[in-house]
Amino acid sequence: MVICPLKALMTSSPNKNRLTEAAYQCLPGGPLDVDKGLYDEVAATASVEPSLRTLVESFILPIRSGKAWEVRKGDICRIVAVEGAQVGDLNIWSLYNPRERFWASRTRQLQRAHVSVYDQLWSTLPYLRPLVTITGDSLKNYGVDGSGTDAEGGRVHDLLGTRCDPYVNRMLTGQDNDYHCHSNLTRAVLPYGLTEFDVHDVLNVFQCTGLNDKDQYFMKTCPAKKGDYFEFMAETDILCALSTCPGGDLSKAMWGEGATETTNADPTLECCRPLGVQVYHLPDRWLAKRGWKEALPNGPVYKGRHALKEVSFSTAFKE
Ligand SMILES: [Zn+2]
Repeated sequence: MVICPLKALMTSSPNKNRLTEAAYQCLPGGPLDVDKGLYDEVAATASVEPSLRTLVESFILPIRSGKAWEVRKGDICRIVAVEGAQVGDLNIWSLYNPRERFWASRTRQLQRAHVSVYDQLWSTLPYLRPLVTITGDSLKNYGVDGSGTDAEGGRVHDLLGTRCDPYVNRMLTGQDNDYHCHSNLTRAVLPYGLTEFDVHDVLNVFQCTGLNDKDQYFMKTCPAKKGDYFEFMAETDILCALSTCPGGDLSKAMWGEGATETTNADPTLECCRPLGVQVYHLPDRWLAKRGWKEALPNGPVYKGRHALKEVSFSTAFKE
């Protein structure tokens, strides 16, 4: 069932806070509702029943590099700050169709601008389905009293910004740098037949950001500690790519005021650390027994044709 957001808004809150509460409501049983009990069980296999998890892939992503890897539906992928604070820029595609890829801006609306456990990362039109569901986040209680927000308004796992890239870098600094996340991701996807044009807006894993009182984007020092992790389950077969951001933990400015001669020449090298990636498989039928099914695109449910009508030749040539 597809619920009109406007209708959802009207039915969920006839009076209070109508103008500022979430425009896209998660209603019980609605398309944005997730089976939290299921994802709690998935998350618990990491600690309560680790024997249920079979490691199918594991690698360390060195500093200032990128790598792509496949995650099959129902498998779990964990990104780990293996040596401490480091931002990772994540891209996701449908494994069989790169036109279907992670849609950061719609995910901001359907979920929130900084994501954590139970949030889903949605795909582009005309497909529109959750590609993954976040099942684990050791920083989920970041901020003041575990509120998710720190004293400056910063939150982690950022969807407000996007990847760093050599074009903006050149524009702002007059210098070339070939190891920005956009470039790292571009090199990462080449073995899959993809190019720079397939790289898209990212989820900035472990990145702490917010908007200041002038509504301007800010980036704080990454709060991740050694061993912190971010974990998701694939809702369909996907291709992932991750870049270890050349800004590292973002504790130093990469350009503009605050960026030193040294950082411009070799920006923030001492702030860079590797990230670990692990992929786990759960026993066959483990998810199915709990009612889980692969997410299918919502797109085909729409039967309109964008008001484009087929021309009837019998009518067009009547005269
Ligand atoms: Zn970056």
